[in-house]
Amino acid sequence: MARNVGPVCRICRRAGQKLFLKGQRCYGPKCPFERRSFPPGERGSGRGRRRPSDYGVQLREKQKLRSIYGLLEKQFRRYVEHAERMAGITGENLLQLLERRLDNVVYRASFASSRAQARQLVNHRHFQVNGRPVDIPSYLVKPGDVIEVRENSAELSPIGQAIQAGAAGGGLSWLQVDNENLSVQIVGLPARSEIDTDVDEQLVTEFYAR
Ligand code: SF4
Repeated sequence: MARNVGPVCRICRRAGQKLFLKGQRCYGPKCPFERRSFPPGERGSGRGRRRPSDYGVQLREKQKLRSIYGLLEKQFRRYVEHAERMAGITGENLLQLLERRLDNVVYRASFASSRAQARQLVNHRHFQVNGRPVDIPSYLVKPGDVIEVRENSAELSPIGQAIQAGAAGGGLSWLQVDNENLSVQIVGLPARSEIDTDVDEQLVTEFYAR
């Protein structure tokens, strides 16, 4: 599946905030944003920068959300269209759909240290859903689903390291994580208050409503 392969840390600098795209590195002193929190490019340090327009603010928020979940524009737009067709608030629907992606659930359950790593682990068939191997990172989980690390993958060091580091923190009411058996059961749908993604989803939907 296509993905963004450009320099990841520049995305944080462009967004003006840490987006935690690189796992453990994001929490340590090696995070480039700690030293250079201004946008990349010659105007990045402040000189000659203009106040962004409403469009610019919406665009930045959209790019931020897209980057956090590691999606290309075409894939992201499909989620927006799906969210628009659902009942309720489009922005919240959008976040809920993104959270229900299998790679995100693997990350949230602390079986991977970043969404990018989770995506790779899913791609390499290290997980199964309801007893069947699934290698599609965009697979949308639903309440009742059980996601497990496959038997031969249990000794994989990235999974063990992520669990030890407690990468994503856990403690989400919609996920019942069993670290002993390396499984997670979906027991509900994520409420907005439980999604710590630091974006203004209203701005994102406004961007697409233009
Ligand atoms: Fe962003 Fe993580 Fe890179 Fe820091 S290390 S700039 S938080 S991706």
